[in-house]
Formats: sequence, C-alpha cells, structure tokens
Amino acid sequence: MMACNLETPQMASVTDDTPKPPNPGLCRTCQHSRRIESDRGSIFTRCELSLEDPQFPKYPRLPVLACSGYRPKPA
Ligand code: SF4
Repeated sequence: MMACNLETPQMASVTDDTPKPPNPGLCRTCQHSRRIESDRGSIFTRCELSLEDPQFPKYPRLPVLACSGYRPKPA
C-alpha cells in the first residue's frame, strides 16, 4: 500500500534582493513624468515640466505628495 502525505508542502523562503523603485506618488499618474531605466536597472522618475519651468526639479524627490504642475494622464 502506498503512503499518502497529506501535509502541505513547505515553501522555501524566497528573498528578493532586487531593489524596488521608490513610490513616485503623484508623478505616477502625471502626464509630465517619464520613467527612466538606467543601464544598471535603476529606475528614475523624470519630470519633463522641468524642461520648460526651472521651478520643477528634473528628478523630483519621491514620493511627490503635492505639486502645482500635476496634470493627470488622459484616461
Ligand atoms: S509636474 Fe509634479 S507631479 Fe508631474 S511629473 Fe513633475 S514633479 Fe511629478
């Protein structure tokens, strides 16, 4: 007779050491933001409004929680 193991198999603990991109806050849904990925896989959020208006930083400190330049992306 064959034995039947009804125990739930234990999952190996998986550690993901991949760095996560920071939460961009408002930039995530802003039409002025561009997601930039470097050759080494780092992810940045660039504000393209900075090209027209120097009061906006090219690479804003994330998360952006309030911004006068915020314009939602079209649906
Ligand atoms: S305008 Fe503001 S919210 Fe939009 S991408 Fe630039 S910093 Fe982010």
